[in-house]
Amino acid sequence: MKMLKKIINIFNSIILCLRFPFLYTRNRFTGLHYNNWEINKFLTNSRKSAYTNVRVHIVNESKLPEIKSAYCNSDIIIVPNKKILIVLNNKHKTVRIDISKYCNGEISYIRKELSKENEIKVYAVVKDGIEIAPHFITETFITDKIMYFILKAMEWFYHHPLQWLHCIPTYTELDALDKGWRKAFGIKICKDIKRSLLKEGGRKRLKEYRIMQIKEKYGFLHWYDAGGNIEIMREIIPKYEEESLNTCICCGKLATKISKGWISPYCDKCIGNREYTEHK
Ligand SMILES: [Zn+2]
Repeated sequence: MKMLKKIINIFNSIILCLRFPFLYTRNRFTGLHYNNWEINKFLTNSRKSAYTNVRVHIVNESKLPEIKSAYCNSDIIIVPNKKILIVLNNKHKTVRIDISKYCNGEISYIRKELSKENEIKVYAVVKDGIEIAPHFITETFITDKIMYFILKAMEWFYHHPLQWLHCIPTYTELDALDKGWRKAFGIKICKDIKRSLLKEGGRKRLKEYRIMQIKEKYGFLHWYDAGGNIEIMREIIPKYEEESLNTCICCGKLATKISKGWISPYCDKCIGNREYTEHK
């Protein structure tokens, strides 16, 4: 019986995560459900030998930041018309970066900086006063084709199937919501958030939204998120925070009493022998 309940629970959680992707539990720093240090280590080490990214930032002279580390084994040449950069890497591969799409001035000089093991930041410096489109250009030098292919396949496998395979959602973010509140408005709040995100930017937008934490504090709902929008922040969450104040935390019926000490809203029946004050 206990086992059956567990299976039904998992099935229910899967359905919930398919309906509302933001209910899938994730690490709030990595954004991943399942974190494997060995795979991470392998990916980080492989990136160094597989490719180098060259990021070109176009900046005005006065906006040039302090360069931390100028060492990098790529050469960069400014062609005589001063609008094109030629980047050469250590394997004598070249890439041409045309800046005329992003600004109408000429490059005065360049500065390069090794920001990560496999990324070179290049600042193409133009004279002050020249208007620049806020954009940076990224080019990738593949140093090892086979390694690059293996790496991309592994990254995809790690970020997609492995996350779902390894961690079938045995619980969802919604399980952090107290029973009564979940019954009263758990699905309603998810539906409202989903509708708002879909209206704003479709399925892609829906996948960007994350729940950081759901909890009860001072007797009402606290819903912390990331990647939301103005409607969710100013209308949807406050609406349910308000509703939670008047909803029994145990059964979801109208709250009539507030418990003392640990402040929570209860109905006449669920308050039991807790000390309380009448709900205003
Ligand atoms: Zn109740």
